[in-house]
Amino acid sequence: MNPLAMTPPRYHGIEHHVGNTPLVRLRRLSELTGCEILGKAEWMNPGGSVKDRAALGILTDASEKGLLRPGATLVEGTAGNTGIGLTLLGHAKGYRSVIVIPETQSPEKILLLRTLGAEVITVPEKPYGDPGNYNHIARRLAEEKGWFWANQFDNTANRLAHYRTTGPEIWGQTRGEVTAFVASVGTGGTLAGTTQFLKERNPKIAAVCADPLGAAMWSWFTQGNTDTKDGESFAEGIGQCRVTKNLEGVAMDHAFRIPDQEALTVVHHLLRDEGLFLGLSSGINIAGAVRFARQHGAGQTIVTILCDSGAKYQSKMFHPEWLAAKGLKTDLPLESVLG
Ligand code: PMP
Repeated sequence: MNPLAMTPPRYHGIEHHVGNTPLVRLRRLSELTGCEILGKAEWMNPGGSVKDRAALGILTDASEKGLLRPGATLVEGTAGNTGIGLTLLGHAKGYRSVIVIPETQSPEKILLLRTLGAEVITVPEKPYGDPGNYNHIARRLAEEKGWFWANQFDNTANRLAHYRTTGPEIWGQTRGEVTAFVASVGTGGTLAGTTQFLKERNPKIAAVCADPLGAAMWSWFTQGNTDTKDGESFAEGIGQCRVTKNLEGVAMDHAFRIPDQEALTVVHHLLRDEGLFLGLSSGINIAGAVRFARQHGAGQTIVTILCDSGAKYQSKMFHPEWLAAKGLKTDLPLESVLG
């Protein structure tokens, strides 16, 4: 018998290299607040976002349950990042993917999905209550064709992936010193799974939601209803108006509403002054971390998520004409926008 077959393999493909991302110190914001403001570098995942964790968790759970056979077709409604993760991990595991994405999402993500080999169906953006909403289209396709629907919003294998990976990594990387965890909500998997793990370790760790305008999570966590959702945001991948299964039973200690201009200023500052190239949801998260720091004082260790790279949004939030048409500014002094 080959002796190598007896020992576990030492080297692995990309499906073993999701997560274990570095924790990056945000220098200026840490100095301004007297706290350690730290970001999980999720853009370093193989598919370039935090959603690789959910994609891997959902695929592993489904194959353990016998729902996925080699050669299966995955279908998902996604703002892009989950689709990118499912497509790449699908290639590594022998599945093909069909991605339903609202046409309002950045052209970079749509092109990337096609380049990676997904079958991409772009659809008009419709609210969840409308049968034409991208998630309902993905579900119906799965039902009609016998495909596997990842169902990231209501499949709790999503938050379990964060409970098993993101939470323990943050606990270990801060040696248990973390005092608050801040995240925005798309599916809610990151916020729910990570805070659940951290609270089990130390119930004093604050769970904090950072919400863009136009979403109802601030309203849900502070008022117990989804009534307040005024304003709007151009952030992609976040901005939830309903309580998904991944959010059920989850309570927050604090929630903040972050205007786009505040998050955009943070993102451009981090690119210019610290060499970090991030998308707007990261900016919302970091602005939330700063609000918490300012309310609760110096000396804390506040961790948030750097969800994906600015490379996916070059034609929008890094494009001068696009910004000017929206009346957004990139060079405001940091202190002037922080809430
Ligand atoms: N930021 C970006 C860029 C995303 O694509 C997503 C997921 N849609 C999130 C944040 C939110 O993550 P979650 O789905 O775990 O709430």
